[in-house]
Amino acid sequence: MLKVERVCKSYCGAGHWGKREPVLCDVTLAVPDGKNLSLIGESGSGKSTLARLILGMERPDEGQILWNGQPVFTGDSKRKQLYKEIQPVFQDNSGCFNPRWKIKDSLAEPMRNYLGLGGAALEQRSCELLDMVDIPHSALEKYPHELSGGQQKRICIARAISIKPRFILLDEAVSGLDATVMLKILRLLKRLQGELGCSYFFITHDVRAALFMADTVSVMQSGRIVETVTEAARPESFSHSYSKMLMESIHKGEKR
Ligand code: ADP
Ligand code: MG
Repeated sequence: MLKVERVCKSYCGAGHWGKREPVLCDVTLAVPDGKNLSLIGESGSGKSTLARLILGMERPDEGQILWNGQPVFTGDSKRKQLYKEIQPVFQDNSGCFNPRWKIKDSLAEPMRNYLGLGGAALEQRSCELLDMVDIPHSALEKYPHELSGGQQKRICIARAISIKPRFILLDEAVSGLDATVMLKILRLLKRLQGELGCSYFFITHDVRAALFMADTVSVMQSGRIVETVTEAARPESFSHSYSKMLMESIHKGEKR
């Protein structure tokens, strides 16, 4: 279970004249095991800042973030332990790949690193993972630039699930993909969740994707959670004026 409790974060120089400007204010939310939370909000509202705090990359100014009761920010020494259980997937695939490495080497890296796998076991597991994300085994011998954006994304997802994490944080992970590819990836994520039983913390500015993925949707505006709706499959479930404005963007998108 992930718990974010009354978290505040400000950055020096985020505002005018180098003054400390709050980026997150009193953020509280929880993701129970096996459940999904979608976090929506417009660009600049603080979503990725919260992501970095959840990944233990930065320390909250106030409040705490707990993974199974333990603070996620521990400094470098225990981060490896955290990353066995919490894995990120970002919008930019390049973080998953070394352009000079074959796909098999990038895919294998976390399994070598966290599970100590090697040899035939590693090869077999790599093939299983490709099957899970519907990518042919021939991709193992390719380089990242030989794959499409959607295929790269599938490999990034395979890499994240390779060590069987309990919690996957997806920060705009499907943004930038065209609509049909995005839908296929969202369906893939749902199917994988059925197989793995992990939780997703799904950050997006795409309201439809958020509703599709979520058990619970939290709406962030200027660093604050303005509304959290459980069983949030429908746009009508939201009552805060900012949430309603975001929901209306769905229909505007349809008209375009
Ligand atoms: P989102 O992911 O919702 O688009 P971000 O968390 O990336 O939002 O950014 C929220 C705000 O925090 C922005 O105004 C951004 O400029 C500011 N910010 C984020 N990180 C830093 C940083 N390291 N230093 C200063 N300002 C930052
Ligand atoms: Mg962001």
